[in-house]
Amino acid sequence: MGTHQNPSQHPHHQPQRHPQRDQTGTHRDPYAEQKKAPGIEVCELCSLVHHAGRWQAGAPPLGDVQLTICPACRRVKDRAPAGTVRLRGFAPGLFEEIRGLVRNIEAKERAEHPLERLMEVVEANGELRVTTTGAHLARGIGEALGRRFRGELSLRYLDEAGELQVEAQHRG
Ligand SMILES: [Zn+2]
Repeated sequence: MGTHQNPSQHPHHQPQRHPQRDQTGTHRDPYAEQKKAPGIEVCELCSLVHHAGRWQAGAPPLGDVQLTICPACRRVKDRAPAGTVRLRGFAPGLFEEIRGLVRNIEAKERAEHPLERLMEVVEANGELRVTTTGAHLARGIGEALGRRFRGELSLRYLDEAGELQVEAQHRG
């Protein structure tokens, strides 16, 4: 986990990558694991398996299985994103390409971190708004936009009460 982190391209502000692991209690994330489940749990909505402290895709190991709802599905149900990317100032002609980019980043992230998922990609008032179940994915989308639109974009990362807000303003 987390061994592939890039050295940051945005040294001016570094919100915490994993606020739910903050031991100071300033960022109590209600979607973090509350307990160490002793056995095997399976998400009844997406079938991810929780075992030995990790959520993973695949068949559960043998043993008693308890049905539950994983943190990502709980966020979707509650409409409580962990990350939001707002794209402003982009020509609407770019939206299709950006949607593709966002889906690619999700597929990559999700292969390694199954709780990092897209929630919604919505167009409103000429803006594109992307919400995610994990802050890591929102940050990854911001970084990919930064690479794709190098020199044409200002990016801001704000940590608001444990939710990562990424603002991408196109200067086109
Ligand atoms: Zn689930």
